[in-house]
Amino acid sequence: MRYLLLFLLAPALAQHVVAPGETLFSIARRYGLSVEELAQLNGLKDPDRIRVGQVLRLYREEVLPLPRGEARLEGLWVGRAALVRVTGYKAGEVRAFGRVFPLAPSGEGLLGYLGVPALEAPGAHRVELVLDGASHPLDLRVQPLPYGREVIPLTPSLQARMDPQTLRRERERVLAACRFRPGLPLRFLPPLERMEVTSPFGTRRRYGDGDWTYHEGMDLRAPEATPVRAAADGVVVLSERLSVRGEAVVLDHGLGVCTGYWHLSARTVRAGQRVRAGQVIGRVGSTGLSTGPHLHFEVRVAGLPVDPAGFLR
Ligand SMILES: [Zn+2]
Repeated sequence: MRYLLLFLLAPALAQHVVAPGETLFSIARRYGLSVEELAQLNGLKDPDRIRVGQVLRLYREEVLPLPRGEARLEGLWVGRAALVRVTGYKAGEVRAFGRVFPLAPSGEGLLGYLGVPALEAPGAHRVELVLDGASHPLDLRVQPLPYGREVIPLTPSLQARMDPQTLRRERERVLAACRFRPGLPLRFLPPLERMEVTSPFGTRRRYGDGDWTYHEGMDLRAPEATPVRAAADGVVVLSERLSVRGEAVVLDHGLGVCTGYWHLSARTVRAGQRVRAGQVIGRVGSTGLSTGPHLHFEVRVAGLPVDPAGFLR
């Protein structure tokens, strides 16, 4: 139940709806802000006077002046993607966290998503905007988010399925399917009619006494054969059976954003096909490395897994 609640609050992470019993202090602590920052963001003169149901802003969109225009950036959170809009330039990319996030021409400027890796440390980070060949370094703050931890016992059968070479090949296959193309800012529809999150994105995971990794998507419990729907308009770039991910579909939505749907019992789309948001693309199952019927739903930005909750409307 706790996870379900987390999910329900998460879609609008840019804001928080005050629940009974909450104080400005407890809300600020939850999102890694100080009471002063939160009060200032919301123009609150008296921090003791918040009411249940009140909507609080958690960040301000940063507007950064540039020699020939400006950049607008959504707040950066560990494990989330932020929309980047640039005016005054024709080509560019964002370099951050040892990765490159391309920007696509859009209207008067450029548009793209910058993802913060789920295991990145919160705090100050250098982000570089490379625009028409010139570099513009920015020092931005990455906000923390609470992520759980779990240790999964490594049984012999699980170990056999997790052969490093198979894992690497399959990951490369999934990553190669998604290419960068122009697009528009995205809002997702829920891929299942009833969203019961049993394991959220970002949970720190360790198999046996191996290295810590993290859950690259969200797991949604649902009965076998429940229809799975496209989260947004897109193109099917992968529809095939994989060893670990089972019956799998990947959709490309533009701006380097792709969604993955794993462990299906059936796929109802072919690679190359265009799909509309909400269109059925397959059915819930338990194929591949799975212990029961569920949908693993994931989102990657320029290959980096980010929390799907940030895109859900
Ligand atoms: Zn999963």
